[in-house]
Amino acid sequence: MTAVLDTTVTVTADVVAEQGTPIFDEGHCPGTTSLAPVVGGTQTVPVSGGREVRYANFDYAASAPALTEVAEAFTAALGQYASVHRGAGHLSQVTTARYEQARETVRRFVGGRADDTVVFTRNTTDSINLAAHILPADGEVVVLDIEHHANLLPWQRTGRARVVVARSTFAETLAALEAELAARPAALLAITGASNVTGEVLPIRTLTALAHRHGARILVDAAQLVAHRAVSLASHGIDYLVFSGHKVYAPFGAGVLVGRSDWLDAAQPYLAGGGATQNVALEETTWHTGPARHEAGSPNVLGAVAIAAAADAIDHLGYELIGYHERDLLTRLDAGLAGLEGVTPLRIFDDVDERVGIAGFVVDGRTAREVAEHLSEHHGIGVRDGKFCAHPVLRRLGHADGAVRASFGLGTSSDDVDRLIAALAELTR
Ligand code: PLP
Repeated sequence: MTAVLDTTVTVTADVVAEQGTPIFDEGHCPGTTSLAPVVGGTQTVPVSGGREVRYANFDYAASAPALTEVAEAFTAALGQYASVHRGAGHLSQVTTARYEQARETVRRFVGGRADDTVVFTRNTTDSINLAAHILPADGEVVVLDIEHHANLLPWQRTGRARVVVARSTFAETLAALEAELAARPAALLAITGASNVTGEVLPIRTLTALAHRHGARILVDAAQLVAHRAVSLASHGIDYLVFSGHKVYAPFGAGVLVGRSDWLDAAQPYLAGGGATQNVALEETTWHTGPARHEAGSPNVLGAVAIAAAADAIDHLGYELIGYHERDLLTRLDAGLAGLEGVTPLRIFDDVDERVGIAGFVVDGRTAREVAEHLSEHHGIGVRDGKFCAHPVLRRLGHADGAVRASFGLGTSSDDVDRLIAALAELTR
């Protein structure tokens, strides 16, 4: 099956390392090629005039394509797939071992402490709903208004959310959060690691220290972070971290929540059913503690295996190399957009320079949908348009009707960026 996977083989960490250090001299710019092969990297799509062009995927922030390594690990696990946590059969044991190994790989990948619980979920949304479910009964949660709906609505539904409106600088926003936490205790600060609208990266250590100074725990929505930046629960002091497989090159329907076990073990099981129980009688049930407590039903073993394979692949490439590649492309993209008449980039904070591979923008005189459709129909370029499940911040930034988002990752090359800029230049001319 792997033989039919369609990939673009370009520069891998091994290849780059073989070229000796310094890796990124003038003559070898990793941004001129994609950094790792992805499934579908050479896929062509129809465009106007009956032509076919290679698809330029600028929608990684929504869902990233599978890394070839991930697809291969998935295929290998599929070949030996059998029931998990149930059977005595050899392949059941192999599958169970793979699933539990995936848990440990994820723990290592995000720097989880030995006593943290790693729960496999469906996605980030599911993980944050689980977090809202385990929030202690009298605990309140503080969130910013810049969050993706996944990190707003589960809290809103508890009726115990306090929303702080972000200011135009992060420094002022931090002061507003400090004032909110000082004014009234909260159990949790739930905050994004990187904005899905602008890519701006928030300083986690500072936020963690802030939450802890006021007796609150911190949950980091790392959906837009882990594919791009190293993050460690232990060394950053994060209490809970959540992310989705499909945003880290493992689009097989699994997600993760990692964090402190006490709230998880004290809460009622997220789902009631088989696998979460120690003992069941008709009148009463004793529930497991640990991950099984919140993973009732048959888990998405292959999704978990895929996330672990992505974690290994990212570790193998290294965040340093990923960061170089991404900064190079982002500089090129930002410069290209800045040179276009009538294109305005979106920013939440004036004082945050650090961004992952996301550029949100609007085009004068065009709706976001018109821009996205033009790029697709005439140039074979896929971007996201709309409100990115972040309606409050889009509205506050003055773009209630939506914006365009170009986002990229390991399979993106500088050629792709040049195509996007050329296509936008043609549209805005
Ligand atoms: N949080 C952020 C910052 C996101 O960007 C997204 C998805 O775009 C989510 C949460 C929700 O992720 P999922 O749809 O995988 O649950």
